[in-house]
This record gives sequence, structure tokens and C-alpha cells, in this order.
Amino acid sequence: MSPPSTSGDEVALLSVGDEIILGQIEDSNAPWLARELQALGAMPGERRTVGDDRARIAAAMQALARNHRALILTGGLGPTLDDLTRDALADAGGPNAALVVDEAGVVAVRAWFAARGRAMPESNLRQAFRPATAQLLDNPNGTAPGLTMRLGGCQVFCLPGPPNEMKPMFLRLVAPLVRREGLAVATAALHTIGVGESALAEMLGELMDRDREPTVGTTASGGIVTVRVRSVGTSDAARAALEETVRACTARLGTLIYGRDGEPLAAALGALLVARQDTLVTAESCTGGLLSAMLTDIVGSSAWFRGGFITYENARKTIDLGVKSDQLTQHGAVSHEVAIAMARGALLRTNATVAIATTGIAGPSGGSDEKPVGTVFVSVAVRGEAIYSRRFHFPGDRASVRLRTASLALASARFALLGEPTRDLLWSASEALRVEQF
Ligand code: ATP
Ligand code: MG
Repeated sequence: MSPPSTSGDEVALLSVGDEIILGQIEDSNAPWLARELQALGAMPGERRTVGDDRARIAAAMQALARNHRALILTGGLGPTLDDLTRDALADAGGPNAALVVDEAGVVAVRAWFAARGRAMPESNLRQAFRPATAQLLDNPNGTAPGLTMRLGGCQVFCLPGPPNEMKPMFLRLVAPLVRREGLAVATAALHTIGVGESALAEMLGELMDRDREPTVGTTASGGIVTVRVRSVGTSDAARAALEETVRACTARLGTLIYGRDGEPLAAALGALLVARQDTLVTAESCTGGLLSAMLTDIVGSSAWFRGGFITYENARKTIDLGVKSDQLTQHGAVSHEVAIAMARGALLRTNATVAIATTGIAGPSGGSDEKPVGTVFVSVAVRGEAIYSRRFHFPGDRASVRLRTASLALASARFALLGEPTRDLLWSASEALRVEQF
């Protein structure tokens, strides 16, 4: 399931030049423009590259103009015969867009050479040609003016290839238009954990209809599924519509949403701990400190994170956390019993009020029929309440098993503190156990 793509409001990027196609230079224009557009709140929708070929440039212009509101092209505006963007734009625009001489453009090109005391080669006059329906864009840093023209529902901008000419022209002449034309979008990202992407899509239902405005889409990474809401424009009305849709999503997803616009899961757990006046300790085996690293990544985590035990070998689990050796021999280090004993031990040996323990088989070796690679037990102990333990089976290689373990351990603790300790979670391989006594 991919987020809704071409809803007709994105900006397309087209890089022109044989040098790029042949790999002689790296295209730095398109990535720069993509970042600038995002900074303006506009969404790059598609990016293409074509060589110095008039028919190909025209065809790419037409194709991209069909489903984007703006197209920004760079390259091929110079005076030489391999600079074909001007002719291609005229071709793409049809008979009404045939090339004409722009008188002001002639004056500007002549002035550019005069100001530098240089004779103007006749070929440079080509740069004062424009399709009849286009306008020239002033270029203070070179001889090649840019061009802008309407192509169907799309505003096309042709900018010079050299970055030192392209960038100022974009910033001075294109960026203000992008803002004014409402090409900018208002966005919100709602992060969830615990449910797969398709289950989440089902819960969102018709909110994900592709012709809905604002649009709602999802993206998934490492167990975290993000709901992306996008509203065309940045007016007050567009922002109000965005917040309205955010509320509708929140009503459907409830506590599955842990944060917005990049808030880390560990920060959400930290806020919950602070609100409850709880403090946290970790007891890690297969995550080897990854969980603690995620927690201490959060600025201010010293207010609620006490520290952690990394108990990788069995003996350490016994010495540091008081896990009994017969528990280890009878059930194995990767078991509910040992995860629960680790969480219990971490609480007994510190003054923290919440403990998270992880033990599992990250692979690639060490799996068995009964406990294949990816089998992980996560326990959460809440002082004065209970210990909850879950068995997970995570897909992926060692790195992803460890990452998913850490994320789902944070999620398990969060749901325990939210009063949903046995909520069914993504990749759960069993129902959550609840142990009253500890
Ligand atoms: P000129 O008037 O200099 O010919 P132009 O608009 O015709 O400008 P091109 O001929 O396509 O542009 O490219 C000129 C030079 O600009 C290239 O040799 C290259 O150094 C640089 N350039 C062009 N496109 C890119 C790009 N996408 N990324 C980085 N550099 C580029
Ligand atoms: Mg050129």
C-alpha cells in the first residue's frame, strides 16, 4: 500500500542534458530543487532526465505537464545547437506556441554583452527567442534567460543548467510563484505502532479514498506506520481542512497514534512516564543496548530513564538480575519465564517503577524449530501492578529483528502504561501474559 501519488498538485522536475544521461556529470540541480520545494511546502511528484534531444524533451514536458501543476526543467537554454529546450517547449505547446523574437529579450542579451565590453555572437540572439505564449525570465548571472509557459493545467519553468544561474533564478522568480499559486501543501504525519499497514488502512476506510481532499496515505518502516495527511495550499482554510482530517484519523486510530510530525516513540513513552511520575529501567539481552540508546537519544530523558542492564550471557542474567539458573536451563534464555525474571530483577535492583526486558534470537544462527530466528520475548513490569510478557516473531535479518524488538518493546511499555497491556500487537506470536505477583 503506497501513499496516494499524483493527485495533480505536485511539482515535476526535468533535467536536460547528454552529460547527465551519459554519466559525465552528476545531476545536482534536481536534488537541490527537490529540497527547496519541500522547504516551501511543495511536494516533488516525479523526476525525469532526458538527453539533448528535441523530441524527447518535448515528449517529457507533455507527459509531466499532464499530471502536475508545475514543471521545473533545467538545462539546454544556451545559445548552441545542442541547446534544444526552447524549441522543445515550442513543440510541446503546439502551433500557438511557435517561436517569436522577444524584443525586450534582444535588448537584454545585447546589454549583457555591452556591459562586459564584449562583442555579441549572432548565435546568442537565439536566446531572445521564445514560444509565443511564453515569457522570458531575467537572468542576471548569465546570458540565457529562463522561460515560463502554461502547458494545459501546468505552469512550466525552464531554467539554465549551470547551478550558479539556476539557483538565483529559482529563488527570485519561481519560489514566490510556487508560494502564491498555492502549490504548497500543508502536511501532517501521524505515527502509529502496533498495527500493520493494511489493518490501519481498513480502520481509516474512506478517509483514504484517492479523490478525497485532504488526502490520507500511509508509509511503513520498521514497525512504525505513518499516516500522512496532505492538504493543497497553505491558506487558513487548507490548514483547517488538514486539522479536520487529522481529527478524523485520530478518532479512528485512538491510542495507536503515539506522535505527530517526527516525534520519536521513545519521547512519547517518556512523556507518559513523566505524566505518571514513573521512571524506567531496561534489562536487555538481544537488543544489547539499542533500547537504552533509543531512550537516551531523547533530550531530557534523565528525568525518567534510570539506566539499564545489558545481560547478554546467561551468567550475567543471573548475577545482575537474579534470574535463577534453573529457569535458564529449564526454559532457555529466550522464554517468557526468563524475560519476566529479567524485568522483575531490574525493578528489584533499582528504584525505577517500570522495567522493560528483551530476550530473543536475532540470528542468523541460534534458531530452532521451536524458537526460530526472530523469536523474541518482551516483558514490561509495572511496580505495584503486574508484569506483562509477549512473545513476538519478527521477520527480517539480525539488524531488523533487533530494531523491531526495540521499537515493539517501547510500544509494549507504552500500551501497558495506557492501560492496554494485553492489546494485540503486530508480529505478536501469542497473547500477552499477565503475572500478578512479583
Ligand atoms: P549554457 O548557456 O551554459 O549552455 P544551458 O542552460 O544550455 O546553459 P546546459 O548546456 O544544459 O545548460 O548545461 C551547461 C552546464 O551546466 C553543464 O555543462 C553543467 O556543468 C551544468 N549543468 C547543467 N545541468 C546540470 C545539472 N542538472 N546538474 C548540475 N550541473 C548541471
Ligand atoms: Mg548549453
